[in-house]
Amino acid sequence: MNHADLPVTSPETPLCSGEALLAAVRALAAGPLAGRAEAIDRGAYPKDLLQELAALGAMSAHLDSPAGPGDYGLAIRAMAEVSRVCGATGFMMWCQVVCGLYLQQSGNAALTGAVLSRHVRGDGMGGTGLSNPMKSYAGIEELLLKATPVPGGYVVNGSLPWVSNLSGDHYCGAIAAVQGSVAEGESGTRELMFLLRCDNPGVTLRRCPGFSGMEGTATFAVSLKNHVVGVKEIIADPARPFIARIRAGFVMLQCGMAVGVAQGSIDSMLAVEARLGHVNQFLDDRPAALQAELDALTDCVMKLALTPMDESPVFFARVLAARADGAELCLRAAQSALMHQGARGYLMRSPVQRRVRESHFVAIVTPAIKHLRKEIARMAEEETSA
Ligand SMILES: Cc1cc2nc3c(=O)[nH]c(=O)nc-3n(C[C@H](O)[C@H](O)[C@H](O)COP(=O)(O)OP(=O)(O)OC[C@H]3O[C@@H](n4cnc5c(N)ncnc54)[C@H](O)[C@@H]3O)c2cc1C
Repeated sequence: MNHADLPVTSPETPLCSGEALLAAVRALAAGPLAGRAEAIDRGAYPKDLLQELAALGAMSAHLDSPAGPGDYGLAIRAMAEVSRVCGATGFMMWCQVVCGLYLQQSGNAALTGAVLSRHVRGDGMGGTGLSNPMKSYAGIEELLLKATPVPGGYVVNGSLPWVSNLSGDHYCGAIAAVQGSVAEGESGTRELMFLLRCDNPGVTLRRCPGFSGMEGTATFAVSLKNHVVGVKEIIADPARPFIARIRAGFVMLQCGMAVGVAQGSIDSMLAVEARLGHVNQFLDDRPAALQAELDALTDCVMKLALTPMDESPVFFARVLAARADGAELCLRAAQSALMHQGARGYLMRSPVQRRVRESHFVAIVTPAIKHLRKEIARMAEEETSA
């Protein structure tokens, strides 16, 4: 189905829009979120704050609504405002945001109606288990979930090692390899994308081993044992055309995290400039230089955000490059913030050392820098040989 043909199915008109939305998000980030960022890093899941962000419209700005087509630029800027203060919460915004994208783009009336409305309001919450499929499509690893066709749907088995923003009644988008989907002599495979509801039979959430940060992201290993997926849960069958449509949006939305964590790092450098500028001037990656790079990257992302559903390989390559630049800038900015702040930034309660770990996460979450570079190299090779 063409994106333009999809019914507009985000019924609630958000409380705020445009600059008013960003101002409200900024106030929430600077107030209650800033006070809890350290606790979130250590394991406190901020469900109430995520629901407040949902109520503001910060996690549905990218969705088409009666007010008009989705605004990806606004969604990314809202995520950046949150990530500037707390990378973990910014990441959970992304989880909720892409899950909303899956629901709306599914074109399945069982998912685009009340389910999407609840999701937009933050009454329903969810995430995405697509790291493994994205790596599988890039030839990095095998698909971990297997779907066996049965009358009326599929039975799915397997497990995903980590999926965030989950809880007993939450859900996530997932992809499984359909068994026996390829007849003898045919090449290729078929995959099924579905909404995995954590409270459905055959689904078990297991706690992950401790992470070095981002502990409040409600990240679980999800095991499926003879889990039945019916037509009401199907997001896309086959999944590949759907992934081709949403992959640019999926990746570009993550730039909100990168921009925010980098901006927070620059803020920390400027905070000590009056006192330590006399010696910090000898450091690399000074705040003005990083800010210029970040502004240029933000401009680039805002331009890409104008056409999130562009399926062309050229466009996707530009999105991958922006995401890789964002991750690399984030690493450099967080590292430099630590150099600028010195021992203050090394204190366990300092946002500076927390941001170093958040920047590492931006660099390793799928698509990780190595994954991005592999895809960019593959696309460049394809273009040369075309
Ligand atoms: C805090 C956190 C939250 C995450 N949230 C999500 C999410 O919401 N959705 C999602 O799909 N993915 C999530 N991931 C996974 C993430 O996107 C990456 O896929 C993951 O970090 C591995 O990527 P990689 O490039 O290092 O994989 P590779 O280096 O290619 O590693 C290969 C595979 O080995 C597995 N592996 C390596 N070490 C271990 C280990 N000690 N235990 C178990 N498995 C291991 C990994 O799963 C990986 O897929 C999360 C990861 C973290 C750390």
